[in-house]
Amino acid sequence: MTTYQGLLQAVTDPQSEWESKDPATAEVIGGVPQRSVSDLEAAIARAREAQPAWAAKTHEQRSAALNAAADAIEASAEALAELLSREQGKPLNGPNARFEVGGCAAWTRANAAFPIEPETLVDDDSGTAQLEWVPLGVVGAVGPWNWPMLISIWQIAPSLRMGNTVVLKPSEHTPLSVLALAAVMNQVLPSGVLQVLAGDGELGAALTSHEGFDKITFTGSVSTGQAIMRAAADNLTRLTLELGGNDAGIVLDDADPAAIAEGLFWGAFINTGQTCAAMKRLYVPDSIYDQVCESLVEIARQMPMGIGLEEQNVLGPLQNRGQYEIVARLVEAARESGARILLGGDPDESQVGNFYPTTLVADVDDKNPLVAEEQFGPALPILRYSDLDDAVARANGVEVGLGASVWSPNIDRAREVASRLQAGTVWINKHGAIDPRVPFGGAKASGFGLEFGVEGLKAVAQPRAISW
Ligand code: NAD
Repeated sequence: MTTYQGLLQAVTDPQSEWESKDPATAEVIGGVPQRSVSDLEAAIARAREAQPAWAAKTHEQRSAALNAAADAIEASAEALAELLSREQGKPLNGPNARFEVGGCAAWTRANAAFPIEPETLVDDDSGTAQLEWVPLGVVGAVGPWNWPMLISIWQIAPSLRMGNTVVLKPSEHTPLSVLALAAVMNQVLPSGVLQVLAGDGELGAALTSHEGFDKITFTGSVSTGQAIMRAAADNLTRLTLELGGNDAGIVLDDADPAAIAEGLFWGAFINTGQTCAAMKRLYVPDSIYDQVCESLVEIARQMPMGIGLEEQNVLGPLQNRGQYEIVARLVEAARESGARILLGGDPDESQVGNFYPTTLVADVDDKNPLVAEEQFGPALPILRYSDLDDAVARANGVEVGLGASVWSPNIDRAREVASRLQAGTVWINKHGAIDPRVPFGGAKASGFGLEFGVEGLKAVAQPRAISW
């Protein structure tokens, strides 16, 4: 077991001028060891050297190593959650820091357990053909700041399971959390199979344009995804891109507003809205519009926001000032256009932390920037509709397509609407709920390539067909 102080000691550099700060209090957490392009070169060489022996292990041996890493995460779970809460801002409680660390162990175990056998595709008079999945080599990963540990695990665990080694660059906003997670896993993993290098977008650009990687897996914004795709083209590096979203929820007219309010709330406000697959636009029929708004306001008032380490809180600050300013700008744009602010929208500008209040906005149209852009914070626009086909068209009327949801007690009806939504995942009566067994990925500009499940393992392996 590692303590919080032990973790800090393992991952911080007291001499570094780059300091990670708590977004709730602005207190310094510790110095971040900033890595250079030559550190990157050294890490790639080390990963390349470690890869053949790792690939030579059997699936059972690599699964055992992943299970040991999951044990190590669980043994240090409280220290990891505390560091995550301080650095990312998310509360310990609610679907937040402890939940994220628990997810890291669960996803690691799930990736250890998925079966991946050669598939027999042909076996008849013409002969036999099989498809097998072999390691790619060295995987480079770049990640975001919203779920920094869990998203790192989504990149690391399948890659390791399939016999690759990994070099990962976490977001410059949450480097210590990911360094700590890797330090805990590296207590049990062989040397060189998992390396984390802290740096900014420049190091990310150096990594994603480097010829030393066999695959790049990236989670972040659409614009960075486009830059990475251009950079990877020269080396023909394989890519998985998990990019931004602007998920719509559609409430059907037979839904019970009070019964769905809590699900709608967490669908939109999980991680204080800083979630790629959070609900960012809610479409509600005229007939129950006022009741849905009232139920949401009532639930939202019951959800305390504050410093993450205080156990009563379930919502935290925005992780960084830039994100706070985006949310504030978008809510102001809605207010100026005549939208009704049902709750929030009035931050205390004198505060130290990046707290933006839980905000519900009614009577706003699709063109408003609060609806058209990914707000990525605790603000939800609630839009009216009178015709369901029109609501579906409006939900589909954006360039991205990560997730969507339909809310109705009639599953057949909801299922039919779900089949018309352009998204990688459509949830019914929930939003954003993920499962390590169910492949996750984007439609349209939300990216391509799948994570989770056997599909996620195949995404970090080379298919090899053998025929005789
Ligand atoms: P971002 O694109 O700004 O940064 C992500 C990472 O890319 C960081 O590590 C950054 O240093 C690095 N980077 C920046 N410029 C780069 C470049 N030119 N080349 C290579 N790397 C570079 O995204 P963010 O603000 O950290 O994260 C929020 C975004 O991520 C949102 O759009 C959100 O929807 C998306 N996201 C998507 C998923 C998903 O699974 N689809 C999950 C979480 C977050």
